[in-house]
Amino acid sequence: MSPRLANRVADFGTTIFSEMTALAVRHGAINLGQGFPDFDGPESVKAVAMRAIAEGRNQYAVGVGQPDLRAAIASHARRHYGQEVDPESMVTITTGATEAIYAAIQGLIDPGDEVIVLEPFYDSYVPAVQMAGGVPRYVPLHPPGPNDTAWRLDLDELNAAFNNRTRVILINTPHNPTGKAFSADELKAIAILCVAWDVVAITDEVYEHLVYGTTRHLRLALQPGMTERTITIGSLGKSFSFTGWKIGWAIAAPALTPAVRRTHQYITFAAPIPLQAAAAAALTEGDAVVHALAVDFEQKRDYLFGVLREVGLRPVLPDAGYFILADATEFMPRGGPDGAALCRWLTTEIGVAAIPLSAFYSPEHQTETRGRIRFAFCKQQATLEQAAERLRRLKP
Ligand code: PMP
Ligand code: GLN
Repeated sequence: MSPRLANRVADFGTTIFSEMTALAVRHGAINLGQGFPDFDGPESVKAVAMRAIAEGRNQYAVGVGQPDLRAAIASHARRHYGQEVDPESMVTITTGATEAIYAAIQGLIDPGDEVIVLEPFYDSYVPAVQMAGGVPRYVPLHPPGPNDTAWRLDLDELNAAFNNRTRVILINTPHNPTGKAFSADELKAIAILCVAWDVVAITDEVYEHLVYGTTRHLRLALQPGMTERTITIGSLGKSFSFTGWKIGWAIAAPALTPAVRRTHQYITFAAPIPLQAAAAAALTEGDAVVHALAVDFEQKRDYLFGVLREVGLRPVLPDAGYFILADATEFMPRGGPDGAALCRWLTTEIGVAAIPLSAFYSPEHQTETRGRIRFAFCKQQATLEQAAERLRRLKP
C-alpha cells in the first residue's frame, strides 16, 4: 500500500542538498555542493556546550529562547548595527534559521496571501509559503552582464509585483546562491514599497558576517519605517561554523514577535538548551573569530574563483556568502542536458559535487538557468586544492 500524502507535500521531492551530498558520499566526490564547512567552529564554544551537558542543563529550554542567548543577540545587534533590540519582547530562538523562516511565514500568511520571493531563492522559502497556503510571486534577480559586478534587482519589476494581496516580501542578504549583498539604495527602495503597501519583510541574514572586500552588510530593519515591519533572521551555523547545531533566531518588533512565537511554540517549542548556552558564549565573545573566518573565506573565495576560471567554468566573483556561481554551459554536451545533469556528471565522473542553480528557481523559470552551477568554498584549503586537481581534468 502506498499511503496518501497531503496535497500540500505531494510535489515535494528530496532537497537538492541532501541528494547531492548523498551522491558525493556514494562516489567519494569532494563535496562543494551542500553549504557546510568541513571543519568545526571554535573549541572554546564546543567546550561550553559539552560543559552544559555535563553540568545537567539537559531539560527543556525556555520556549522563546534562553535569556542569556536572547541578551547576547540583542547586544550583538547593538554592537554591529546600532540596532536597539529588547531581548524580552523582540528575540525568539529557533531550531535554525529554517525554522524561523517557516514560523514567521506560518504566523503571517493566510491562504491566498501573496509573498514576494526574489528568484533565485533559498530552497525552503517556497515550500514554507505553500504550506501556509500562500502564493509566491516571483521577481527575478538578473545575472551580471558584461558591465555589472553583481546580480541586479530591477526596481520597476519589483514595484510591479506589489498589490493589495501582498503580505510579505522575503529578502535574503547576503544572498544564497548569488553572493549579492543588497545595497543601501536597493534596501531603501524595498523599504519604501513595504511601507506604501503595508507589507512585512522577512530578511534572512544568515551570511551577515561573511562579506568581502569593501562590501558591508546592511540591515533592512534599519531603513525608515521598517523597524516595526521587519523580521530579521540569523543563524549560528554560518558565522561560527556549526551548521549541524541548528540554532537560529528571529528579531522583530514587539507587535510582530507573536508571528514567530505563536507558531514556534507548536513547531518545536524550544531549541536544544546546551547549544543555546554555547551560542550565547559565541555571540558574546566571538567577534574576532567571525572576523578571522571572513578573512579566511575571502582567500578561499579567490582561490576557488581562480581555479574555476582556469578550467573554463566562467565564475562570477561573489561579494559575500560562501558560494561561487559558475557558468558551465560549454560543458553541457559532455555533462548532460541541464545544470542538474551536469552536477551529477561532475560528481560521478570528475569527483567534485556542485549544486545546479535551477534548484533555486520555480519550475516555470528553471530553464533560464541553463548550465549555471554553484560551488561552496567554505572548506579547508587542502580540500579545495584536491577539488582543483580534479577540476583540472575538465581542461581540454
Ligand atoms: N537561509 C539561507 C540563505 C541559507 O543558505 C541557509 C542554509 N544554510 C539557511 C537559511 C538555513 O539556516 P539554518 O541551518 O540555520 O536553518
Ligand atoms: N544552506 C545550505 C546550502 O545552501 C544547505 C542547507 C540544507 O541542506 N538544508 O547549501
